[in-house]
Amino acid sequence: MTQLLYQTDSYLKEFEAVVSVTDPENNGLILDQTAFYPGGGGQPSDSGLLESGETQYRVQKIKRIAGNLVHLIEGQDPLPAAGTIVHGRLNWDKRYQLMRTHSALHVLCGVIFRNYGASVTGGDMDPLQGRMDFEFETMHRDLVDEIETAVNAEVEKNRPIRVAILPREEAFKIPDLIRTKINLLPVGIQQVRVVEIVGLDLQADGGTHVSNTSEIGHIRVVDYKSKGKINKRIYIEVE
Ligand SMILES: [Zn+2]
Repeated sequence: MTQLLYQTDSYLKEFEAVVSVTDPENNGLILDQTAFYPGGGGQPSDSGLLESGETQYRVQKIKRIAGNLVHLIEGQDPLPAAGTIVHGRLNWDKRYQLMRTHSALHVLCGVIFRNYGASVTGGDMDPLQGRMDFEFETMHRDLVDEIETAVNAEVEKNRPIRVAILPREEAFKIPDLIRTKINLLPVGIQQVRVVEIVGLDLQADGGTHVSNTSEIGHIRVVDYKSKGKINKRIYIEVE
């Protein structure tokens, strides 16, 4: 099992690891630990470099294959053998933009639930832009400015963003988590990672976030679309 360094330290840009398995079929490497986020919850996979001596391996992305996190390597260089020590470097500009974007989307969720009682049903993001889907029957064009103002007011409150890993039973007792459909978690999962924007939002979430809303920057609500009578999609950009 690969130790997931990004789960407890989203600001880790470089790390040392040992190659556990070389996977020639996928031109990939499985490491004993990694700071590369494999993608999930709408946040894309990280990219970057793995270095061994003079050789640089370009990590195109990380992918879950047969339960393992495989770092997919570009190019034809022979892969390092199991036991080799490698030095990992994230494409930090992209990752940090994704952290700001992901946290911005959680601010949006928090504001829309608090102000309008609407629950989130899904989301997706690229660096500095994202969208979220809500069960939000009363959403209409005039609310766009109102939501944008409320979201930025929360960003400017410099709210801390905290990550905790809780036993399943404990997480299930938190009312805020129930509303975000925590009950859909597979039975086998014994620990739940929760991301809290203190005073605003609490979600079961695997992604990487900034540690304070002040790092997000200004959020623009750029568009919304009706995906039916109840389901509405809201688009944001982070400046
Ligand atoms: Zn999230």
